[in-house]
Amino acid sequence: MNRYWSPGVGNLTPYSPGEQPAGEHVVKLNTNESPFGPSPLALSAIQEAATDSLRLYPDPNAAALKEVLARYHGVSPDEIFVGNGSDEVLALAFLALLKHDAPLLFPDVTYSFYRVYCKLYGIGLREIPLSDSMEINTKDYDQHCGGIIFPNPNAPTGIGLPLVAVEDLVAAHPHAVVVVDEAYIDFGGESAIPLIHRYSNLLVIRTFSKSRSLAGLRIGFAVGHVGLIEALNCVKNSFNAYPLDRVAIAAAIASYNDEKYFQTNRIAIMTTRDALVQKLSAMGFEVLPSIANFVFMRHPAVEAPLLAKPLREMSIFVRHFAQPRINQYLRVTVGTATECARLVDALSDMVGKQKSAFE
Ligand SMILES: *Cc1c(COP(=O)(O)O)cnc(C)c1O
Repeated sequence: MNRYWSPGVGNLTPYSPGEQPAGEHVVKLNTNESPFGPSPLALSAIQEAATDSLRLYPDPNAAALKEVLARYHGVSPDEIFVGNGSDEVLALAFLALLKHDAPLLFPDVTYSFYRVYCKLYGIGLREIPLSDSMEINTKDYDQHCGGIIFPNPNAPTGIGLPLVAVEDLVAAHPHAVVVVDEAYIDFGGESAIPLIHRYSNLLVIRTFSKSRSLAGLRIGFAVGHVGLIEALNCVKNSFNAYPLDRVAIAAAIASYNDEKYFQTNRIAIMTTRDALVQKLSAMGFEVLPSIANFVFMRHPAVEAPLLAKPLREMSIFVRHFAQPRINQYLRVTVGTATECARLVDALSDMVGKQKSAFE
């Protein structure tokens, strides 16, 4: 910090992203990216977009992409907002829809960026504790608030909330916006998108970073009532008129045009996840029931940092959060079957059990 900083900047608590280690033989299970590359159609679209046309600004409205998203998700293009990764969409939603006199409610164990945005914008917050089994209990949200936000499935627990419970929450708070962050919904959850036509206070946020293997391009979107989308556009056009570049728009459209590739990969990840959970449980890990592309687990006999550190020395990266309530857990992204086998073998040495090949 020095004397040139604007007031307040020194008081921010920025988000700390997981490490992006370099190296070829790294098993990278720490930031929930897909172990599979993007659709080949997306990769060719990227090459085809790399022409002289890049001298021109992109469509500020990304209309072609909104068309494709609208058709796929059964909504109208003006019920969609697109942005530079869902983190940007979230940031704009906090500013446009969640800053009120009453506090914003979210789980005590959840995506840590929510706390960061509250600090950035001066939004009051109240953290609602997850149950002892680390689940969101919607009854606990039954209080006066300026908004509610949570991921479904929740991160880093991986536990999903049934659609009926999401609907109950949205219906119980007609005076506040409820944001459902569906970053991991494609790995087994039930999307709330179909509810947007019945509830004008529901905003659903999605990303291309996980199930669509495009974290490197930064594409996210929100779906909701036109009244909510209008607020997002208003804030976005006061900040950056062109959040999605030409290359990203082309790749995003191509990704949605390759339904088969999308389905194959998300099913492979779910299958590998279920096999991984079995292996880990057999080793004595307590694994929370995940419907995401990661698992959240602890071992009753071994401290989490004592697992994360030696794994790292073996170039296996997992995520440990030094936070109350979850400091004994590790969050492990579901990789390829081969990557998961390396993890299981490494862990079985550490917890003193027999090595076993991954099936
Ligand atoms: C990964 C993640 C995001 C961010 O996704 P980007 O589109 O890459 O910015 C948002 N919310 C949750 C819960 C996530 O895990």
